[in-house]
Amino acid sequence: MTSSPPSAAPNQRVADVIVVGAGNAALCAAIAAREAGASVLVLEKAEEGERGGNTFYAGGGFRFPYDGLDDIRTIIPDLSDEEVDRIEVGSYPASKFKDDLVRVTEGRADETLVDHLIAEAYPTVQWMSRVAGQRWVLMYGRQAYEVDGKLRFWGGMITEAVGGGEGLSESLFAQLPRHDIEVRYGTGARSLLQDESGRITGVRVKDASGFHDLHAGAVVVAAGGFEANAEMRTRYLGAGWEVAKVRGTRHNTGDMINAALAVGAQSYGHWSGAHAVAWDMMAPPTGNRRIGDLYQKHSYPLGLIVNVHGARFVDEGADLRNYTYAKYGREILKQPHAVAFQLFDQQTVGRLRDEYRIKEATRAEANSIPELADALGIDVGGLVRTVEAYNAAVRPGKYDPSVLDGLGTEGIDPPKSNWALPFDQPPYVGYAVTCGITFTFGGLKIEAKTGQVQDIEDRPMPGLYAAGELVGGLFWHNYPGGTGLTAGSVFGRTAGTAAGKAALAARAAVR
Ligand SMILES: Cc1cc2nc3c(=O)[nH]c(=O)nc-3n(C[C@H](O)[C@H](O)[C@H](O)COP(=O)(O)OP(=O)(O)OC[C@H]3O[C@@H](n4cnc5c(N)ncnc54)[C@H](O)[C@@H]3O)c2cc1C
Repeated sequence: MTSSPPSAAPNQRVADVIVVGAGNAALCAAIAAREAGASVLVLEKAEEGERGGNTFYAGGGFRFPYDGLDDIRTIIPDLSDEEVDRIEVGSYPASKFKDDLVRVTEGRADETLVDHLIAEAYPTVQWMSRVAGQRWVLMYGRQAYEVDGKLRFWGGMITEAVGGGEGLSESLFAQLPRHDIEVRYGTGARSLLQDESGRITGVRVKDASGFHDLHAGAVVVAAGGFEANAEMRTRYLGAGWEVAKVRGTRHNTGDMINAALAVGAQSYGHWSGAHAVAWDMMAPPTGNRRIGDLYQKHSYPLGLIVNVHGARFVDEGADLRNYTYAKYGREILKQPHAVAFQLFDQQTVGRLRDEYRIKEATRAEANSIPELADALGIDVGGLVRTVEAYNAAVRPGKYDPSVLDGLGTEGIDPPKSNWALPFDQPPYVGYAVTCGITFTFGGLKIEAKTGQVQDIEDRPMPGLYAAGELVGGLFWHNYPGGTGLTAGSVFGRTAGTAAGKAALAARAAVR
């Protein structure tokens, strides 16, 4: 900890509010603080060419409650009538969002965070359109299947930012000059400045010229989780997590979690939990800005997943993919060599998502099961036995990938609970995957309606606010797809507004 007794006078402050980080949560916080009337400085550890954090790499899917087509048309006003005739968006009530969040987190998600997130999700999406010029589009390629001549959207997340995570990031950055917000790149925050009273008064940073203390009326930390820190991954998630690939930025190394804990912030949430998915086996150790999220392989509910012994180890059809993909990366990490194989036959291969079609995919195709096993390096006898047992366990029924169709197996362990078609239509296609970590679940405790960080005695810490991945308590064990960006925007906006108001009040008090 670096002390700066007493608080810096307002004229020594670089801004009313310092925001640490320049991803979705940080930039929403910066814009909201500015809307509240505060001056804002954003500090970003990455150089400009690497800006955007995990947000840049994201697919851009946002989960929010909606009552039906009218709510979707409000945020996508350019949806044509012809387009509307071809789609079914259904509805996603707030109660269903809450059920999904509580169910996948095994009842552990902090209810105050859940309720604030859900209440503010749709208004915040509208706010982003208004203040950040954000445009939205339906997720045709990834969240809809053609059923009975219509494109039926499923799974509570049906809308993405135009241009995906990169588009979202770029449109947020594009708004900053309009709001008179400066970003200092190549400026990593190292610690938080705290006065004798316990108030957070700024940050100590390191840039190309060395260390500097920057003072402000309030600080919002939105600098990501610790997913890109191999030491912290191994310490908190457990042995073996050193070898996980990082899907996004290399800069989210837990700096601001550690800095806040060092000045008395309370640790909170699922510290041994993380969002981790099936990710191409040959992907680089951290994200590739050109490929973005396309190393992911999310169509496994349509096929089978086996390890190098040819054995299945999860229920591929346990739920809609939005509710299983973020926990299956951990299951892959537990397999020999941390490797698994997703297998498809000709009945389903045409429905695979866009990410299966990149030339970088580690893929093999063969006309028989032994040949497929051989091409991918899977034990041949093991895979033949697995496929025979699986095919014998498949029961008849009506196949529909857009709903839980109940077309399950009988008598095998693990079962495949939905979408269990016989695996018998060559040529067969296989993809080799490993565990790709997205972000970590443990972090700081905040007060939901202000984003103010709580100390170890559950009291709000004056001058310190947090948003985004480094907030703990929302996600445990698992995660409903599309909630990370929504949570970043909602809690970013909340924290920025509260920090802006607090900084202005503090400035007025010393006049
Ligand atoms: C491949 C991929 C696909 C995804 N797809 C989706 C999706 O479709 N929908 C969804 O909801 N979520 C998705 N996510 C998750 C989502 O992107 C993240 O949860 C969200 O973007 C996190 O936002 P954030 O602002 O908290 O962090 P980030 O966007 O990661 O921003 C954190 C910033 O802090 C900076 N920083 C770190 N340390 C310091 C420091 N010491 N000083 C200054 N700056 C620092 C980093 O450089 C970074 O710019 C995806 C993630 C990945 C990686």
